[in-house]
This record gives sequence, structure tokens and C-alpha cells, in this order.
Amino acid sequence: MTKCHKCGQELESGHLFSTKDGALSFADEVPSAFENARHAPGFVELTAPKIGGRTALAADICRECRRIVIDY
Ligand SMILES: [Zn+2]
Repeated sequence: MTKCHKCGQELESGHLFSTKDGALSFADEVPSAFENARHAPGFVELTAPKIGGRTALAADICRECRRIVIDY
């Protein structure tokens, strides 16, 4: 079990999920709608677009600190 880096409590496992057409990515800053997001500095694709289902990835939550930790 992973522990919260902030308060030291054990994190609960679960899933972070999106609206039905969402995809999640990470970058240093959020790219504008006209930019190709893949070219943004620090870009990491977390999930691919998915037709007809919820995008989801495994995540841990600390309800105490209101914090979600994601492995990719
Ligand atoms: Zn915590």
C-alpha cells in the first residue's frame, strides 16, 4: 500500500475517470485548443481517446488531504 506523502496515511486504491468522450494527458502547461497537445513541453499521454466508454486509469486517493496520486 502506498502512503500519502503529505499526511502519511494509507492511500485508498480506485480509478480516476472522465466524461464519456474525455482523454487525459499531462504537460507543463495546458496547451491551447489550436496547438497539437503532443508538442507541449513535458507532454505525457495518460489515456487514449475512447469511443463509447469512460476513460479511466488506476489512481490512489487520500480523502484527508483531498489528493489523488496517479501512476502511469
Ligand atoms: Zn494525505
